[in-house]
Amino acid sequence: MAEPLMGIHHVTAIASDPQRNLDFYTGKLGLRLVKLTVNFDDPGTYHFYFGDELGTPGTILTFFPWPGARAGRAGTGQIGATAFSVPVNSLGFWRDHLARLDIDSTPETRFDQEVLVFADPDGMALELVGDSAVDSVPGWEGGPIPAEHAIRGFHSVTLWEADANVTDTILQKGLGFAAIDEAGERTRYHIAEPGIGTRVDVLHLPDTAPARGGAGTVHHVAWRTTDRDTQQEWQARVSARGLHVTDILDRQYFTSIYFREPGGVLFEIATDPPGFTFDETPESLGTSLRLPPWYEKQRPVIEQVLPKLQLPGREETRG
Ligand code: ZN
Repeated sequence: MAEPLMGIHHVTAIASDPQRNLDFYTGKLGLRLVKLTVNFDDPGTYHFYFGDELGTPGTILTFFPWPGARAGRAGTGQIGATAFSVPVNSLGFWRDHLARLDIDSTPETRFDQEVLVFADPDGMALELVGDSAVDSVPGWEGGPIPAEHAIRGFHSVTLWEADANVTDTILQKGLGFAAIDEAGERTRYHIAEPGIGTRVDVLHLPDTAPARGGAGTVHHVAWRTTDRDTQQEWQARVSARGLHVTDILDRQYFTSIYFREPGGVLFEIATDPPGFTFDETPESLGTSLRLPPWYEKQRPVIEQVLPKLQLPGREETRG
């Protein structure tokens, strides 16, 4: 038995306009840009990493912003919603904050927790959950949202599935999740004790069309593992279930393996180390374009191709 996964490591999604995406997640939701780099598979495109002050695993939402990208379509075989945790008493603040920004939000109650449902500028479904499990987790003091109300990290992601049974099998028998609650078509699983990023929901939607990737959709979710050794164990374990799993890939701030769960959602297993302070000090995270060594020689060309950006709290543009 491999060492258990520890929860969500990061969520990666697709956006269109880079500046609009950056402004929304840093200026409006108050996440920190913890890394400004490029898509390692397409270095003419940015890769933004947003998170808490240090980009702690479980807090990291990343984007590939493609200017003019075609909008995706929500559907099955995809992550239909990404939920963040805030302290239970902060939901009122967030309701007012979103209203002031002219962002529509809808309140819901789900498994005894209050939820605010809204969308980002590309139409990506977001949720804020009042979760007592994060009441004692400190918020980022340096952001535009008062620290007491700041987003603490992920609560969960919701998988939209045409056949929830096959996904249930991989989650519970393959990856060590446990079903803990059920309401209507929604089943909630946990992978660790209550805390940041320890929940995943599955929505059974047999009559919904398959998703189409594009701006405003999630590309994949990554689960946390301790190190490369445990990652290798997971690679063997996933492969033994008959799923195609990739080699271990160097993502500079973690290493990764990828596989599709049988319902079609792309999963990744990523290591906690080395993390985002690997090539920047905690103070300077996200303030300049970082490239992995294998792209450094191409920096002048890459910088010319990338769209200019106004970084948070800075006057000058880069690119
Ligand atoms: Zn990833």
